[in-house]
Amino acid sequence: LVSRKKKSEDTVININGEQIGSGAPTFVFGPCSVESYEQVAAVAASLKEKGQKLIRGGAYKPRTSPYDFQGLGLEGLKILKQISQEYGLAVVTEIVTPAHIEEALDYVDVIQIGARNMQNFELLKAVGETNKPVLLKRGLAATIDEFIHAAEYIMSKGNENIMLCERGIRTYEKATRNTLDISAVPILKQETHLPVFVDVTHSTGRRDLLLPCAKAAIAIGADGVMAEVHPDPSVALSDSQQQMDIPQFNAFYDEIQKFMKQY
Ligand code: PEP
Ligand code: MN
Repeated sequence: LVSRKKKSEDTVININGEQIGSGAPTFVFGPCSVESYEQVAAVAASLKEKGQKLIRGGAYKPRTSPYDFQGLGLEGLKILKQISQEYGLAVVTEIVTPAHIEEALDYVDVIQIGARNMQNFELLKAVGETNKPVLLKRGLAATIDEFIHAAEYIMSKGNENIMLCERGIRTYEKATRNTLDISAVPILKQETHLPVFVDVTHSTGRRDLLLPCAKAAIAIGADGVMAEVHPDPSVALSDSQQQMDIPQFNAFYDEIQKFMKQY
């Protein structure tokens, strides 16, 4: 169902006025984790200033260590909902278990399926049974074929509003946190009719690479770019090494706009 052979036109998903997949790239910025109302509000205010329509932030965090911050859970979803209403931003947030889906439907605009859950087939089927748009991230070590099949699981249950997100894969290379597989973008665009995003934060794990990789993503035809923004990354409860602070976000955004005008 996700194949280009099945449907030749691009799928376009309307979220809060953004026509995702229609040509102009969509951005999804926001903190790694929802930590407090004030933290998310500070980011939301700067996104709004730049005319952004979406915000991201994790309430359920899939952490490597059980002793690391696990997210605020439902309280985090409530913060996101309040921010969404106050700032007019659509919420993109990760759900990690089918048990949380029903509750989350009232709070979120886009359900993110994280890299670690790309082959959690029960979760894929459960989000497939909703009508919420889904942002599906590529697994840490998933082939493109496995990634496409994961999207097929969702669509097989009736939900056609799927966005794919390349977020880097695990290789022997240690200079970056993961290896951004930029060629996945045109392959996924050829093989499927779904919008394709690139997450520059988790793929690189390096603040100095966010801008060049975002430019590469846009140049190669990505429909969107995701990047993390935190009011004070040095005290962030997750991913403190790689989130942009607000001045860095403003500079990133202005640079990427300048770059896009060259096209
Ligand atoms: C995230 O986007 O918050 C995240 C945990 O990313 P990934 O699943 O790609 O590691
Ligand atoms: Mn993160």
